Amino acid sequence: MDIVLETDQLGKRYGRAWALRDCSLRLPVGRVAALVGPNGAGKSTLLHLAVGLLRPDAGAVRVFGRTPYNDIAVLSEVGFVAQDTPLYRDFTADEMFTMGAKLNRRFDTALAHRRLAQIGIPRDKPVGKLSGGQRAQVALALAMAKRPQLLLLDEPVASIDPLARREFLQALMGVVAETGTTVLLSSHILADLERTCDYLVVLHASQVKLVGDVSALLAEHRQLVGSRDGGPLPAGVAQVVRAEHTDRQSTLLVRTNAPLRDPAWKAYDVTLEDLILAYLGDGDSRPRAGWEVPA
Ligand code: ADP
Repeated sequence: MDIVLETDQLGKRYGRAWALRDCSLRLPVGRVAALVGPNGAGKSTLLHLAVGLLRPDAGAVRVFGRTPYNDIAVLSEVGFVAQDTPLYRDFTADEMFTMGAKLNRRFDTALAHRRLAQIGIPRDKPVGKLSGGQRAQVALALAMAKRPQLLLLDEPVASIDPLARREFLQALMGVVAETGTTVLLSSHILADLERTCDYLVVLHASQVKLVGDVSALLAEHRQLVGSRDGGPLPAGVAQVVRAEHTDRQSTLLVRTNAPLRDPAWKAYDVTLEDLILAYLGDGDSRPRAGWEVPA
């Protein structure tokens, strides 16, 4: 399995507070990965470390096996769209593309033109006069025209409306299908991710809570519903990720290592949103006293 981005016990701190800590993950080639977590979780910090804008205080980050902070040549393979798609607002898209072509050896101006034509965005209007969604599309076209092997997007859809968000993500999927680029996309909006991403990284309070292939993660988690005094957990439960209780009933989100067959508990499939929220774990996520995970 080819690994595009790898972090090993990666950490970054500001003063005494860790913005990112003990972060270890491997992003395989060709994936569209969601980097999910609430505000302040460390998403931007991770992306900035990956493009060498920040230097790690602990551990290591490697992009195509190289260290971006010291080896900036690797950045020719990386596209990065920072939060709020910072573009020169007085420049037109055409002017941005001219600049892109001067700064990048392999810049594919035709690809950028084609993308904007497909979605009907004028190339001769200052980008400051475009809508938020259109500006996000210009930033995506600019980043894609660099023909990066890895594309990092920091909250690209946070500030645009749901329709523009869907269009943006469709455009992203289109270019990914066309170019095979590996993508890491940070977001705190969960709704769009199920359609877009096949790999997941959940960050919370500066730590990685969950990482892996989306379909494998969905397959190994279940929601269990049983009576509050439902007795021992079924065999096959490896971890209780989250537990919620009413007077009569307990609802658990569990990680499994074998099929669950126990008439005392009803087992349901989970959605990506259920899974993410369980690992972000606000509320009562403690298993009820006395629940032991079967060996
Ligand atoms: P996210 O992108 O998930 O919202 P960030 O990576 O921006 O999170 O921030 C992670 C933590 O690091 C937050 O607690 C934030 O306040 C802190 N932080 C980020 N940048 C700085 C900075 N330049 N100086 C001090 N603290 C920072």
